[in-house]
This record gives sequence, C-alpha cells and structure tokens, in this order.
Amino acid sequence: MKCKKCGRPLHDCQACNGGRASGIFGRLSCNKCDNSGVVCSQHGGHWK
Ligand SMILES: [Zn+2]
Ligand SMILES: [Zn+2]
Repeated sequence: MKCKKCGRPLHDCQACNGGRASGIFGRLSCNKCDNSGVVCSQHGGHWK
C-alpha cells in the first residue's frame, strides 16, 4: 500500500503493531493510524 497523498510506501503502525494489536473489546482503536494499521512517514494515519 502507498500513501494516497504522497505515494510513499506505508509503514506498519508502531502504536498498534501494524493493526495486529487488539484493543478493548477485541476491536482495533488506534488514533495513530486511524485504525488502518499503517502509517505514512509524512502524513501518519491520514494518508487516505
Ligand atoms: Zn504521505
Ligand atoms: Zn495504529
């Protein structure tokens, strides 16, 4: 996947381990990556 804003490759979100970490109630709720599990080095979770 690539960032839709800058085209850079996306990285696994460090805060939720690339979306593999499960939050409360087993649902992923990560405000770092906006629940996508990946982040752009420039735009963070707002790469869509
Ligand atoms: Zn970006
Ligand atoms: Zn995350």
